[in-house]
Amino acid sequence: MQKFFHCGNHYFDKLAKETIFFWKDTFTALSRYIELISIENHSFGKHSLFYNNNILIGSKSVYLKSWFDAGVYNIEHLKAPDGKFLSYNEFINRYNVLSNILIFNGMILSVKQFLNKYIIIYNIPQKSIGPDILLYIKDIISDINGAKLFYNILNKNKSKPTSIEKWTNNLNLAFSENEWKIIFEMSFTITKCAKFQWFKTRILHRIIGTNHLLYKIKYKESPLCSFCNNDVESIEHLFWLCPIVKKIINEFLEINEAPFLSLGIKEMMFGYNAKDDLSNAKNLFLVYYTYFLFISTLKSIVLSLSN
Ligand SMILES: [Zn+2]
Repeated sequence: MQKFFHCGNHYFDKLAKETIFFWKDTFTALSRYIELISIENHSFGKHSLFYNNNILIGSKSVYLKSWFDAGVYNIEHLKAPDGKFLSYNEFINRYNVLSNILIFNGMILSVKQFLNKYIIIYNIPQKSIGPDILLYIKDIISDINGAKLFYNILNKNKSKPTSIEKWTNNLNLAFSENEWKIIFEMSFTITKCAKFQWFKTRILHRIIGTNHLLYKIKYKESPLCSFCNNDVESIEHLFWLCPIVKKIINEFLEINEAPFLSLGIKEMMFGYNAKDDLSNAKNLFLVYYTYFLFISTLKSIVLSLSN
């Protein structure tokens, strides 16, 4: 997990290549995002030494486990308090790490080439500021527009999201390319709230943390549904097929039948594709409803309409 926060874009390219399913898009997008981060004086030291497309030794990015384990992974770790780069001996003494002088010199040279390439002024003494992580993902986490930003990056990668194929097969859909475009954009028109935009985006890209997914990445011991404990908790099951969830939605429809006459699994997942006020309101409701279901799985809330 440490590597996740402290490595450059090539790390995510590598993960995307090694992954065969849902994470592929996410890692590719993260890699692209890191590549697009602007290189600036004040944050230069926070760039990772490893898997960095700008720091190449022998034309390849590198990963040095002994350095990483010793806590050396950012450019600023190679700098002395006076702002100069450490000498080989200073480096060995400070981090007590076994390292070949040729590799050390290669790294310093490569960092200097990176500096020159972007005309970075990086010789001022630096105090360590803030937590030593997250240059690459802090915008996604902290920016109120994080979801939109991430979405734009996902879309700069012109290839179709792999989730579309999965949706098409699972739900037997025949949406045109343009219809998919509208569906993916709707995450940002339904609500202005970044939390719900990001939630909807994760559903559409099928990177939402259902038990099925958490089990696949070995984070949970069972893929079974948090509510019925009887079937795999896929996205489709959690938000529509689960008998316990079905019971709730049926109770709801008994009271609100008229506006939701055509409610089916497609509407639940993708919303109503119309721009009138009623459709907008229904779409907003469905986002809140699916979010409530998802949060209930995390907090083990007993499902009931009154909740
Ligand atoms: Zn269930």
